[in-house]
Amino acid sequence: MHTMPIKRPTIAHREKVLLAPYAMHSADSAGREHAESPHPYRGPYQRDRDRIVHSSAFRRLAHKTQVFTGEMGDYHRTRLTHTLEVASIARTVGRVLRLNEDLIETLALAHDIGHPPFGHAGEDVLDQCTRDSGGFNHNRQAVRIVTLLESRYPEFPGLNLTREVLAGQQSRIKQNDAPPEQPPLLEVQVVDAADSIAYDSHDADDALELGLLELDELLAVPLWSDAAARVQRRYTALAPEQLRRAVIRELINALVSDLVNATCCRLEEAGIDRPEAACRQSQPLVAPSGEVVEQKNQLEVFLFKRVYRHPTVLQERTDAGTALGEMFQRFLQHPECLPEKFCDRAATDGLPRVVCDYLAGMTDRYAFEEHRRVGSH
Ligand code: MG
Repeated sequence: MHTMPIKRPTIAHREKVLLAPYAMHSADSAGREHAESPHPYRGPYQRDRDRIVHSSAFRRLAHKTQVFTGEMGDYHRTRLTHTLEVASIARTVGRVLRLNEDLIETLALAHDIGHPPFGHAGEDVLDQCTRDSGGFNHNRQAVRIVTLLESRYPEFPGLNLTREVLAGQQSRIKQNDAPPEQPPLLEVQVVDAADSIAYDSHDADDALELGLLELDELLAVPLWSDAAARVQRRYTALAPEQLRRAVIRELINALVSDLVNATCCRLEEAGIDRPEAACRQSQPLVAPSGEVVEQKNQLEVFLFKRVYRHPTVLQERTDAGTALGEMFQRFLQHPECLPEKFCDRAATDGLPRVVCDYLAGMTDRYAFEEHRRVGSH
């Protein structure tokens, strides 16, 4: 193949021109656990993003539950489409704040990679099953996947991601256990905020499409009713479905704009002039304004009661949880039924952890198929 040298600015130069001083610059990366030579034209965070996109755990997100299982239809978000919406929102916020978009995109694409099948129902069951051997948490599992379980390189286990990406994912574990002592990099904070904007808006949209909620019921929630009022001032005669979609757009736009404005003010007030300065604050700087925090809480309480606790959703959760729990016990009793590579790791990691890894990696559909298979073993 004929290759021609291409004249191009280096990643370091490009970032110097485009990024804010408080952004994480690739040139300042603490590198990877296993040293690798630089790529001729991809920066370290670009390479990390590509490694995530090409991983099998990432592809399986397409067939994993976000909130509603695949049995309930094909309109609603899967774990993968949720992830893409988070990445899209996070990049918008990152670009306007002049943060490192490559790092943000990697963190966003990886943020839910540790989710087991059947969403939080699956996570709860696996946590119970492994209670005596460390429990299960999807954020911790994400780190385990990218540092150990993905096997793509002869030189090292996992994906050998940069330390910034690993630390970003690790900061999410702490958030679950206890509030972090120090906020993470701004790029990590952007992904956390974008995650929350994505699920607040798409869970409402999905629940409406599935008929678990009526449009009028959401008018009791100020964040929603304010967005609906702005839409109706612009368009006078929208069909219910058009109205719903317009309100979702309006909602995301309003939440993103508020996030950007509130964050800009805080960055300026705190005089943040380098990445580490954001980590020395007592609170994350990337967050909505006080008023919107309150309104988002109201929407989340509403969604919790009316959607996440809806009898149809709870029934799906119970069925899925039972299947996963039964499989866990079955594999503990019959480790010979596990695929070979998992069997091999049982000697070092213990059988419960290995069974948990196997189950957590499954897609919803595969989990049900495997449940049928081992059930009749
Ligand atoms: Mg998420």
